[in-house]
Amino acid sequence: MIDKLKELEKEARSKIEAASDLDQLKEIKVGVLGKKGALTALLRSLGNVAPEERPIIGQKANALREELELTIERKEQSLRDALKAGQWEKERIDVTLPGRPVQIGQKHPLTMIMEEIKEIFIGLGFQVVHGPDIESEYYNFEALNIPAEHPARDMQDSFYISSGFLLRTHTSPVQIRTMEKLAPKLPVRIIAPGKVYRRDDDATHSPMFHQVEGLAIDTDISFADLKGTLLLFVREMFGHGQKIRLRPSFFPFTEPSAEVDILCIMCCGEGCRVCSYTGWLEILGAGMVHPRVLEGSGYNPREVTGFAFGMGVERIAMLKYGIGDLRLFFSNDLRFLKQFD
Ligand SMILES: [Zn+2]
Repeated sequence: MIDKLKELEKEARSKIEAASDLDQLKEIKVGVLGKKGALTALLRSLGNVAPEERPIIGQKANALREELELTIERKEQSLRDALKAGQWEKERIDVTLPGRPVQIGQKHPLTMIMEEIKEIFIGLGFQVVHGPDIESEYYNFEALNIPAEHPARDMQDSFYISSGFLLRTHTSPVQIRTMEKLAPKLPVRIIAPGKVYRRDDDATHSPMFHQVEGLAIDTDISFADLKGTLLLFVREMFGHGQKIRLRPSFFPFTEPSAEVDILCIMCCGEGCRVCSYTGWLEILGAGMVHPRVLEGSGYNPREVTGFAFGMGVERIAMLKYGIGDLRLFFSNDLRFLKQFD
């Protein structure tokens, strides 16, 4: 019996020593000291022992129980300490590590160009107005003298939302909305920056891009006013040596209409690959507001005249910064965007 006790003690101590976590230790405790544990079972078998030996063995067994309980308690404490130390190690902060630099955002190049355009025209007395991105066919086409059979109204070119409504294909509808609101007040001098949408997607076209529309109406506005305004804008934007060239063109909502070129940014008019050896680059479209557009919006074309222009913000940014692929503006590549800091 004494031998059995010694064997049990040896086994229990080695198991306790080897326990690597609290669950394991608890299991060992139950296995030795529990109601169905090894020591308890041994004590139950005391009946088989000679009566004179019983108190001695009983005493020893109880002493062993106490000792093992103490050993388990100590082991438990040491496991808990180790666990805590491990957690501290994990949460430890190395104050000698170099800090992570704080990333400060910056304006997108298109935002910068847009703001520059606005600044220039605000300086000329223009007001900034906005219109909705979802437009009715009336404002996007009809009121701008674009009849139903006009190719610009092709479903292939526009994003239709529902019958009669589409994502605006240009910022020109804001002209109509503004005139309707102000008529017959004079003068009208507004620019309308914003997003426009067309079914295009390649290196020089994006399904969403930005335009700035301009409109001026008064009793004595001539084509010379248009040219002077645009020349001033171009010189503010691209440098004071800039020149413009107006080529006759056609837009349904202006008459006469012109496409406006500036001296090639790359060769300053000498002729190069970028300008196809013409020395000029197209920058915007403009013209005198069509009498039918004036009339439809509440102004009398026999009493007032006006000019309008529309420019692509991406186009201007590409020319100003020498960027060849329009998709760079929308790919959110920090290596690209950081160059405009
Ligand atoms: Zn050139």
